[in-house]
Amino acid sequence: MSTVIEFELETSSRRGRSKVRVPNVTLAHGGGGKAMRDLIDDVFIEAFDNPTLAPLEDQARFDLTSLAAYGDKLAFTTDSYVVDPLIFPGGDIGKLAVCGTINDLAVGGAKPLYLTCSVIIEEGMSLETLREIARSMAKTANLAGVFIVTGDTKVVPRGACDKLFINTAGIGVIREGINLGADQAQPGDAILVNGLLGDHGATILKVRGDMALNTNIESDCAPLHELIDAIIKAAPNLRFMRDATRGGLATVLNEVAESSQVSLEIFEDKTPIRDEVKGFCEILGLDPLYLANEGKIVCVVPANEAEAALAAMQNHPLGQGAANIGHVTDGRAGRVVMKTVFGGQRIVDMLVGEQLPRIC
Ligand code: MG
Repeated sequence: MSTVIEFELETSSRRGRSKVRVPNVTLAHGGGGKAMRDLIDDVFIEAFDNPTLAPLEDQARFDLTSLAAYGDKLAFTTDSYVVDPLIFPGGDIGKLAVCGTINDLAVGGAKPLYLTCSVIIEEGMSLETLREIARSMAKTANLAGVFIVTGDTKVVPRGACDKLFINTAGIGVIREGINLGADQAQPGDAILVNGLLGDHGATILKVRGDMALNTNIESDCAPLHELIDAIIKAAPNLRFMRDATRGGLATVLNEVAESSQVSLEIFEDKTPIRDEVKGFCEILGLDPLYLANEGKIVCVVPANEAEAALAAMQNHPLGQGAANIGHVTDGRAGRVVMKTVFGGQRIVDMLVGEQLPRIC
């Protein structure tokens, strides 16, 4: 028996918004009745309020003509967020859920427009933390110019999930003439990144307290669609972009090498990673090339547009640390190689499992 209630409420203009008076979420808040309406009202409607959400029907409705004005292809994506802890330096699960889905749209060349927000809440979750996370989602969406337009709320008994999981789906529109893909890399192309790698993964590791690490490092969690716009303008023949989230740089490079049947060569001394991230990766036996990022993209660009793309990145606040880290070669198909600072080379393989669970 489903306890799904989409945001089926009367609009806030017709009645006042309800408040939840208890400090913690109870199973009643997922029961589909008055308590659930109050929770949705207090936490989500209060934070997300916008004209597309306001009718609170089972689905958000869009005028196709206005969508088509942005381009000729619809992009549609979904991602679930299970990060532990919920709040960390540089962000929280809500900011992550908005940025991550915006970035998954933007790396396809889409203008991100609308998001959904589905939450699975563990009984006992603090209402105040939930409100804080919803406000963080709203703030991130507002700053990025996207709207959260529909959602779903479930509450599960204590122990059936860990505090809060969020799923955000998103739609965006891809401008005419843009067709990016992991299969489009060609020998000679340059490989660019927009800054320091591994900060998100390192931050989560640090706050979990697995090690007493004395560092001010923060998650790089950020919406990248404006940076991406600038790159596309500077490099109209851009081949491919991907946000290097779970699995990090190494995973993205392996996907390109495999899909395009080319070899990729990167240089250790050109790949931007903080010394402190390298340092504690060494202690923990991790490889920073696989650490998660939440505000970093990898771009494959034709050689003759690399300089312009790099300059466009460096001129944007989220690309100041951008670097050209290597190139595509006609070496063995599917292989990624890193030239080390010592003049040697190592194969950068695909990870078999996951380096760190619940990183995003
Ligand atoms: Mg992604």
